[in-house]
Amino acid sequence: METIIFKMGSGEKDCDTMEKAAEIIKNGGLVAFPTETVYGLGADAGNPEAAKKIYAAKGRPSDNPLIVHIAEMKDLNVVSEHVPKEALLLAEAFWPGPLTMIVKKSGAVPYETTGGLDTVAVRMPGHPMALELIRKSGCLIAAPSANASGRPSPTLASHVADDLRGRIPLILDGGEVGIGIESTIIDLTEEEPMILRPGYVTESMIRSVIGRVRTDPGILDKDPAARPKAPGMKYRHYAPRADLIIVEGARDAVVKKVNELTEEMRKEGRRVGVIGTDETAPLYVGDMVLSIGAREDEEAIAKHLYRILREFDEGDTDIIYSESFAAPGIGQAIMNRLFKAAGHQTLRAEKCGGNEIV
Ligand code: AMP
Ligand code: MG
Repeated sequence: METIIFKMGSGEKDCDTMEKAAEIIKNGGLVAFPTETVYGLGADAGNPEAAKKIYAAKGRPSDNPLIVHIAEMKDLNVVSEHVPKEALLLAEAFWPGPLTMIVKKSGAVPYETTGGLDTVAVRMPGHPMALELIRKSGCLIAAPSANASGRPSPTLASHVADDLRGRIPLILDGGEVGIGIESTIIDLTEEEPMILRPGYVTESMIRSVIGRVRTDPGILDKDPAARPKAPGMKYRHYAPRADLIIVEGARDAVVKKVNELTEEMRKEGRRVGVIGTDETAPLYVGDMVLSIGAREDEEAIAKHLYRILREFDEGDTDIIYSESFAAPGIGQAIMNRLFKAAGHQTLRAEKCGGNEIV
């Protein structure tokens, strides 16, 4: 199958392309499109055969449910007959935006879309092209991230093309996404609301709206054996091809440790990558050193993480050392993704003064 990558924002043809994209969705096909979090791979959420195509194109395990994207608040009542009060409050506060809610599913959502579950994940994306595609197609759109299963989520249309070229007919290229990591997921089907995946919308932002919320202990645990509740969180996602190891500790100690390890690895003939910040990147001796952004700018760090992991793949590195980026706010989401990419491999540098990295 030929894959057309269409650069949106180039004028008149945008409208025709959007019509074409909507037709493909209506007819049970797949379209990749930008959202404010990452690129999504969309299909008609109400069509079981269309949902199955998503799993096939991505190579995604069929027990890993899809998120249903809506463009109108009233569609929350289409995907669920039991919309809890908290869902309405959160929708009002954060939609359109990077928050996905799990609610009981209605008959309108087939089990093929929910990976066999009686619950459904639903979100109203905050990207005009995503909203337009949903409205024009007249469908609710099931869309996971538009990467091949196990690869970092795409933040550029070229990432989608690298993974899915030849498997889908159309990629809408809306440029680089704004946030760069996937939506926060909150489960509203249990007695106490629970965050199943951290994201841009943080626990404290949610608490300020609905009063009570906790985070699934399984996702914060550094123990790889911990069992998170969201089916997708148990898989080793976001994995670069090289081994990735997170080095925690004070800044100077981390730089020293990473440089020592780099020398050792080189002696074994291995090509070493390093993820540093604007402040530390010049201090590393690795073969490929990339800065993820300024340490204080956690939004930039979130936005660049997946692109950087993909760049290391292209740079043919054998092993990558990364600084740790724990911080309040979105830092929890960043570290959740980084730990998963690293398969939970971390080590601690001995403290030898200098600035604390945490
Ligand atoms: P992605 O679209 O690639 O960001 O993946 C969707 C995520 O949402 C996966 O981690 C799924 O496990 C999670 N998810 C989707 N639907 C449900 C559901 N009904 N219950 C729990 N987690 C869900
Ligand atoms: Mg994904």
